[in-house]
Amino acid sequence: MYKTGDKPGKGEYQCYNCRTVIRVEKDEDALPPCPKCGCEKFIKLN
Ligand SMILES: [Zn+2]
Repeated sequence: MYKTGDKPGKGEYQCYNCRTVIRVEKDEDALPPCPKCGCEKFIKLN
């Protein structure tokens, strides 16, 4: 489980609440809040 502000690395992350998928483009980028529901918890996708 990752949360907003973490820098878990490049990849796709799914909102824990509404399942919207967001993409982190760079390893140094932090996870934003979910753009759809504002949730701050995410699961990493493969
Ligand atoms: Zn969401």
